[in-house]
Amino acid sequence: MQVPFLDLKAQHAALEGELTEAFRAVVRGAAFVGGPEVEAFEREFAAFCHADGAVGVSSGTDALRFAYLAMGIKPGDEVITVPNSFIATTEALTQAGASVRFVDVLPDTLLMDPRQLAAAITPRTVGIVPVHLYGTPADMDPIQGIARAHGLWVIEDAAQAQGAVYKGRRAGTMGAMAAFSFYPGKNLGACGEAGAVTSADAGRLAFVRKLREHGQAQKYYHDIEGYNGRLDALQAAFLRIKLRRLEQWNQARRSIAVQYRESLSAASDVRIVAETPGSSSVYHLFVVRVPERDRVREFLQSRGIATGLHYPLPLHQQVAYQHLHLAAGAFPVTEGAAAEILSLPMYPELRADQVDYVSATLIEFFGGLPSRSAPRVTKQLNPA
Ligand SMILES: *Cc1c(COP(=O)(O)O)cnc(C)c1O
Repeated sequence: MQVPFLDLKAQHAALEGELTEAFRAVVRGAAFVGGPEVEAFEREFAAFCHADGAVGVSSGTDALRFAYLAMGIKPGDEVITVPNSFIATTEALTQAGASVRFVDVLPDTLLMDPRQLAAAITPRTVGIVPVHLYGTPADMDPIQGIARAHGLWVIEDAAQAQGAVYKGRRAGTMGAMAAFSFYPGKNLGACGEAGAVTSADAGRLAFVRKLREHGQAQKYYHDIEGYNGRLDALQAAFLRIKLRRLEQWNQARRSIAVQYRESLSAASDVRIVAETPGSSSVYHLFVVRVPERDRVREFLQSRGIATGLHYPLPLHQQVAYQHLHLAAGAFPVTEGAAAEILSLPMYPELRADQVDYVSATLIEFFGGLPSRSAPRVTKQLNPA
């Protein structure tokens, strides 16, 4: 049996007629950048998030960049985030002249540890960026409590969390602003690059609109220097089609997560990364922690199962951040997790027999018996 990590071809096969029709309509209309498709998508995505407004931009990275700039980040400011993320979270902070200060993550969820925040705040701190990694909301109540007490803003990196819920609130509605990515592999993925910013603040959203369009509110009249950070009409049209399925796809991911939990419950060597209490993850990724991770990964690969690592090297240990002089051991939870994490196949079209096969193969590696519901594994054990 082959189990890919992600199967966009399966998703697109079911939508091919609609996607092709949308492509034809955009080509015939010849409005390729901005226009009615983009505006319609912005309205529909804001409604999906229960957000007051959304602005479509060219990527999740630009969504973060424009949100940071709309909060007024300037050189000398400090912003607190986590080292357990993708570099896009920090790139735009540094590029806007701010300094990044990391705090470690919680051992069970691997998301921002609110208890570490107070000690990281200095007189130059302006904001906090929790990352809803793996599709699971960070523990926003204590994070927002500390932010309020110190007069700091919060921006959600919701790139992996379209539709995730924390205590009744959707990702994208909890911070002053939030950034989403529609990179093809995300829960809602374009057929290319795309992103969006959400906020309840119309003024900040207007500023993001200006930033994405070379700093102009009116064509060729530039109030500021901005960026070319617009959303393509073609991507907006594709995203509108997929957005109608997103709730159902997220539900399928949650069901798959339930099945993984059940079928892996016998495997004491496999620890499943937890959801934040009071939250409902949309399982962009299903992450477990295992000893001998690289050997486990090879074994699964030899049995036709593809896996991922999110992420193999924490941000503070990247060459790009050498100059921050953050020694190994600075963020022990993040560093410990990086050696053990393994992202198992997760996508809405993943079948129950595939999930059972992945779980049975993991259990087999650790010398246990395949669970009763799993197919019998007859192939030879990896000699390694
Ligand atoms: C994907 C991702 C981004 C960046 O989004 P792009 O659309 O690839 O620019 C930012 N943060 C996190 C956590 C992501 O997973």
